Amino acid sequence: MDKRQSGLETWSNISEFDRNSGGVHGALPIILALASALGIAPFMVLRFMHGEILMGLLDACIVSGMLLLGTFVYRTRRVRAASIALSAFCVAALLTTVHFSGAHQVLWAYPCVMAIYYLLRPREATALVLVMIAGVLPALMRETDAFTTTSTIVTLVLIGAFSYSFAAAANRQHKLLLQLATRDPLTGAGNRRALDEKLNDVVASSRRIPGNSSLIMLDLDHFKTVNDRHGHAKGDEILCRITEIVNLRIRVTDSLYRIGGEEFVVVAEHQSLEKAAHLAEQFRTLVEANELVPDRPVTISLGVAELCAGESGSEWLGRADEALYAAKRKGRNTTALAKPNVAKIYSVLSSAESI
Ligand code: GH3
Ligand code: MG
Ligand code: MG
Repeated sequence: MDKRQSGLETWSNISEFDRNSGGVHGALPIILALASALGIAPFMVLRFMHGEILMGLLDACIVSGMLLLGTFVYRTRRVRAASIALSAFCVAALLTTVHFSGAHQVLWAYPCVMAIYYLLRPREATALVLVMIAGVLPALMRETDAFTTTSTIVTLVLIGAFSYSFAAAANRQHKLLLQLATRDPLTGAGNRRALDEKLNDVVASSRRIPGNSSLIMLDLDHFKTVNDRHGHAKGDEILCRITEIVNLRIRVTDSLYRIGGEEFVVVAEHQSLEKAAHLAEQFRTLVEANELVPDRPVTISLGVAELCAGESGSEWLGRADEALYAAKRKGRNTTALAKPNVAKIYSVLSSAESI
């Protein structure tokens, strides 16, 4: 399956990611849909004025389709289904117009190709554009000379090839930007921004479908001394090795983030406090056993907190942090469990009782 996104999906992800951007970017689909509708509307009026009712109705369908898509995407951000529908609609409208009105209508194929590459993923767009070219070919061969037919097909293929390369470049840039914005460059773990997004998602989904989820916060013990003894480069290597150790042990549904110099967080979705504490102990013993430096073992301290009903992401993280510092106070190389957020549980229970 082609994992690459369409231009419109990329737009949607970027505006979702950068919710403060607003301005013209937030209104891009509606602007594009409006521009297409405004471009076709005069022809619709002319068709009706000249008594070409069928072609006028076809143009009216295209104009309303564009406006509906713009409004739908702008309101719901559900771009995928609407994009597929609109692309198929564009091709069907073009082939119908060419069939009823003649081969000169093939001029509309050029904006169609570009719109299709914007709306669909590159490979899907290529397939649809080939179908479209095959669809207009009989009318071209019937109504125009060999020279016009050939140059129309060649220019259509060329505009498709350019659109493909722009779409592929936009995809690569989007992936790279996403990586830069959400990954820690040293270890490849998620960064603080990615963790905040994840916490918001987990808290929101636990409100819809209640269930256990836990956080494990871990911090290297006396890492300053490790750096002083073995050098900063060795310290960096240790951070990478710890990332590998944790990544090898967690499930695919768990995720790892580096949120400070030598501080990491694991979000263990659908894991109770007990199970997450067991996982934390596995991290601790694995790191200790790994002989990351020759003289004495590098160790970690860990704090584990289970999400309480009604709690925000930052409150949850705060309790994991408190537990981590309790583990440090207990002498390090140990795991401590956070107390439940009694105030939150009480307020959720009392509001449920009052309903
Ligand atoms: P504690 O057991 O209380 O956590 O002691 P600590 O020395 O680990 O903690 P402290 O906060 O005093 O020092 C953190 C050290 O982590 C300081 C800094 O040298 C090191 N550090 C932070 N970021 C990096 C990094 O990216 N690379 C390396 N090599 N070291 C880092
Ligand atoms: Mg430390
Ligand atoms: Mg620290």
